[in-house]
Amino acid sequence: SAVPTIDLNNGVQIPQLGFGVYQVPPEETAETVATALEVGYRHIDTAEMYRNEKGVGEAIARSGIDRGEIFVTSKLNNGFHRRDDALRAFDQTLADLGTDYLDLFLIHWPLPGIDVDYVETWKAMEEIYAGGRCKAIGVSNFNAHHLRKLFSETQVRPAVNQIEVHPYLAQDELRAFDAEHEIVTEAWSPIAQGKVLDDPAITGIAERLERTPAQVVLRWHVQRGDVVFPKSSSRQRMEENFALFDFELTTSDMAALTGLDRGERTGPDPDTFNYIP
Ligand code: NAD
Repeated sequence: SAVPTIDLNNGVQIPQLGFGVYQVPPEETAETVATALEVGYRHIDTAEMYRNEKGVGEAIARSGIDRGEIFVTSKLNNGFHRRDDALRAFDQTLADLGTDYLDLFLIHWPLPGIDVDYVETWKAMEEIYAGGRCKAIGVSNFNAHHLRKLFSETQVRPAVNQIEVHPYLAQDELRAFDAEHEIVTEAWSPIAQGKVLDDPAITGIAERLERTPAQVVLRWHVQRGDVVFPKSSSRQRMEENFALFDFELTTSDMAALTGLDRGERTGPDPDTFNYIP
């Protein structure tokens, strides 16, 4: 069944379910993304940091699918936060993806304590957006305090905030803050890279519904209204993760999953992480 779209705050529509390519090796990316497109995914989430934008671009070009039917997101890498570097990095991302526009471009990390303020970086993102080669701009790994600073010092509201969210890190406070400010939350590592799938609360629901634990967790995200893009290298799991729109979780299933929250990250903490490659 068809993947729903969500309206971003500038009217652009984003498919709620996509395919993420973090940790897909560059030399395997074209084939992996080609498979994802065959399965039906029409939204790809990559980043300069993943070193696989060329493979994503190759798969899109070879697929024969119109560019306009695929939603492509990439992210500004940590070493490029200065204005001039950001503009150049955006051009390089387009060149590597072999496309003349992006659907969504994000600041990958806020990077506390580096010698460039992310406000400068966001102003560069605004310039990129004004240039028309990017349909929407957003941020990733921003907390409420980072967003408040953007609201007071810049013009364009981020369209999305891509943050770590899964049943062990439910993020209800930050998701509510995003929603209050018309920012769509995108949930990265939606199945916590597999770590939540053995949880008895999740396997119990999966058995009752005759679905897999991954489907139950991904369906929880979808019903909460977040955007997700699980990663997998196997066609079978890509198909499994794509089959989310022909069943529903009950209110009590939803509450049971949210109740697993224990503030546990699988990735870095945005308030301390400032790695520059
Ligand atoms: P994920 O939660 O999507 O988990 C992926 C892993 O789970 C796979 O490698 C596979 O081992 C396993 N898996 C996938 N489907 C499965 C299934 N049906 N059953 C059992 N196991 C399964 O983790 P992720 O890749 O870290 O996150 C998804 C995407 O989010 C990334 O590819 C990337 O696009 C994005 N992301 C963004 C950031 C950021 O800082 N913005 C950070 C991490 C990830």
